[in-house]
Amino acid sequence: MSEIDWGALGFKYMDTNCHIRYVWRDGVWDEGTLVDKPYIDMHIGAACLHYGQAAFEGMKAFRCKDGNVRVFRPDCNAQRMANTARRTCMAVVPESMFLNAISRVIKANEEFIPPYGTGGSLYIRPLLVGSGPQIGIAPASEYTFLILVIPVGPYYKGGLQPVKAMILDDYDRAAPLGVGHVKVAGNYAASLYAHEQAKHEGYPVELYLDARTHTYVEEFATSNFIGITKDGRYVTPDSPSVLPSVTNMSLKQNGADLGLPVEVRPVMFDGLAGFAEVGACGTAVVVTPVCEIVRGETVIKIGSPEGCGPVLQKLYETVQGIQYGELPDTHGWCREV
Ligand SMILES: *Cc1c(COP(=O)(O)O)cnc(C)c1O
Repeated sequence: MSEIDWGALGFKYMDTNCHIRYVWRDGVWDEGTLVDKPYIDMHIGAACLHYGQAAFEGMKAFRCKDGNVRVFRPDCNAQRMANTARRTCMAVVPESMFLNAISRVIKANEEFIPPYGTGGSLYIRPLLVGSGPQIGIAPASEYTFLILVIPVGPYYKGGLQPVKAMILDDYDRAAPLGVGHVKVAGNYAASLYAHEQAKHEGYPVELYLDARTHTYVEEFATSNFIGITKDGRYVTPDSPSVLPSVTNMSLKQNGADLGLPVEVRPVMFDGLAGFAEVGACGTAVVVTPVCEIVRGETVIKIGSPEGCGPVLQKLYETVQGIQYGELPDTHGWCREV
């Protein structure tokens, strides 16, 4: 695909050669096929359409310094999707099938992997949906699992740009015993309205507090909350309704490797001023520095609005270095395809 301008890639859908698709019927998954058209011919009664039986994942493959292609921690995504499937009564995709599907779809779209040095990567989007017709409430009798891939650019072209976050007390993302800890499609629909409102007021991200008391920090709409205290500790909220982010797990480990004390504990809204750095972390960006958190009349300033703080910058560079094969992969996170 010589016509792709690697430097101009953003984060949006683009047609590639094909996606891979599997169907589960009568208790078994088929062998999977590579499908070139980006459409599904689906029953109008499909459970995913009516009742939201849908799970997704997101991870990236990188063209590394040595020329090989590696996926970052796909086993974590396989396990997370299995948890989501169990929580929503869907057929589980076995880890070996998940990993094999990733290899197959990447190989079939090799020319779409951005070259080393462009800062781009191949975004991998697995999707699992109840595709069998189901009008009475029950789990679907057929499931479709597919993986699409798209080349994406570096999120930040000129270094990590801090953003402002807003807390909207009129909305919650996830109930304490609900589905906040799994990656169901509906969680994003549930947060869209607040997101549009925050965006309209000039805040690119929204921060959610615990639904029960609105006193503890949970996470941003689509990324985990991490904070670096003024005495250099890595802190991230401990809550059953936070989505376990693979990026957060990785940054946490890198932080520990660099000698930072790591604390997974309740984080009070009232304690936010004690952070020297705050970041929103997820696969798409790795980490977005947050320089201000607004809640009604309260404005909390954190670090500088001009650039990323030193600790998050270092953690970001460490993860990226491992992903692109520039730093040793001491934990065996990267899987060659
Ligand atoms: C996907 C997601 C994240 C980020 O997870 P990563 O594995 O790091 O990409 C964080 N929060 C929510 C709510 C998510 O859906």
